[in-house]
Amino acid sequence: MILVSAKMVKTRKAHRCIGCGRKFPSGTVLQALVWTDLGIWSDYWCEVCTEYFGQHCQPDDLFDESGLRGNDPEGWEEVRVEIESSSSKEEAKEEDCTPEEQRQCTKQVLAEEG
Ligand SMILES: [Zn+2]
Repeated sequence: MILVSAKMVKTRKAHRCIGCGRKFPSGTVLQALVWTDLGIWSDYWCEVCTEYFGQHCQPDDLFDESGLRGNDPEGWEEVRVEIESSSSKEEAKEEDCTPEEQRQCTKQVLAEEG
């Protein structure tokens, strides 16, 4: 899977983070991701998984179903402690990744592929 788009959003619905499997209620700031592989789809990551990804992974790394936490529970836990001990939060717009945004991302990917 290749990451094509990522942005922080405040969710309107509850979502499960695909990186660690934790479930977050509406109003949580999560990273909305758009992936491309054979198709294109969107997922959500929590702040911890976003930070973990930034520290340990490359955007074109491959991911499997066990997620970030499943692949490296100790490394993930270290990042979680780091995040939860810092009080600064980024401001985010209140929106989910909409079907329209997904379509736009698809167009963008197709355009880049020529
Ligand atoms: Zn997570």
